[in-house]
Amino acid sequence: MIIDDIQAAATILAEGGVVAFPTETVYGLGADALNPDAVAKVFAIKGRPSHNPLIVHVASIEMAKAVASEWPDAAEKLAQTFWPGPLTIVVPKQGRVPSVVTGGGDTVALRMPAHEIARKLIKTFGGPIVGPSANASGTVSPTAASHVTQSLGESVPVLDGGPCERGIESTVVRVAQDSVNILRLGVIGRDEIARVVPVVETHATNDEDPLPSPGMLTRHYAPRTLTRIVDAKDIAITLAQHPNSALLTITPTNLPGAIAMPADASSYAKRLYAALREADAMGADLIIVERPTAIGPIWDAVRDRLRRASAEH
Ligand code: AMP
Ligand code: MG
Repeated sequence: MIIDDIQAAATILAEGGVVAFPTETVYGLGADALNPDAVAKVFAIKGRPSHNPLIVHVASIEMAKAVASEWPDAAEKLAQTFWPGPLTIVVPKQGRVPSVVTGGGDTVALRMPAHEIARKLIKTFGGPIVGPSANASGTVSPTAASHVTQSLGESVPVLDGGPCERGIESTVVRVAQDSVNILRLGVIGRDEIARVVPVVETHATNDEDPLPSPGMLTRHYAPRTLTRIVDAKDIAITLAQHPNSALLTITPTNLPGAIAMPADASSYAKRLYAALREADAMGADLIIVERPTAIGPIWDAVRDRLRRASAEH
């Protein structure tokens, strides 16, 4: 159910209810982060595994510090540089953060969203709120209010803030002493972060396989339809083998039903999840996604999401 009154949404949160809200990344499913019963509703509605921790959304650095037990210089520098924005910072948590929020762990993931409506909602409510993507766990994240209703049903109230500007989930970093590890790729890239604080390499062999953080399931952000990433030169043969395919291409094509994707990274990321939903709705046997080959941090994050969307069931 679409709603437009931030005060009414804040009242629902204060009463222990859930409200979906827009951010610049994807739509979040909000609940009072300090109320374990409210947070439990979020897990239940999403069907989210209990070990997968939630990101806590704040409207100020002060609000972040009020739930962190340590706020190292590295966290302060990152927050000053990238907040409000699509960077999530993992720090040790205070006791008042319920363990249901953090998957039982003693750290908490914090982010100040750039979307005006998100920050107004948090300020009006007056405290931090959890905000995992407002969709059934494992499925394609919502980047429009209508996607939330499609995935979770009419009973979940949704504040409509239009289409999400960034379109993919935040970059997640864990603060370790004076440096950080990157746990999840997003539109804020490694080099941008490394200009502010040292980035320590993880055990991973490359950026495509960051250190696993709880809940970083391989198959995620996935359409119902089998999805395959295919090199541009192999699309014709794949289509010949699977004529009933939906297609997302960057290279211009005359193929009927092909969904044209932007060639620019930022626009591609913004469009990706809506395009996967459209492809999923075509009733195809296969979704073929042309493999993006351009370099850059946003393309790396896009490839990460495509890999998860196309991972085996
Ligand atoms: P989302 O599914 O977009 O809400 O993102 C939440 C993701 O952030 C989780 O799946 C984890 O990968 C990561 N995350 C959240 N909290 C923590 C934490 N305390 N430590 C490490 N990673 C976390
Ligand atoms: Mg999600």
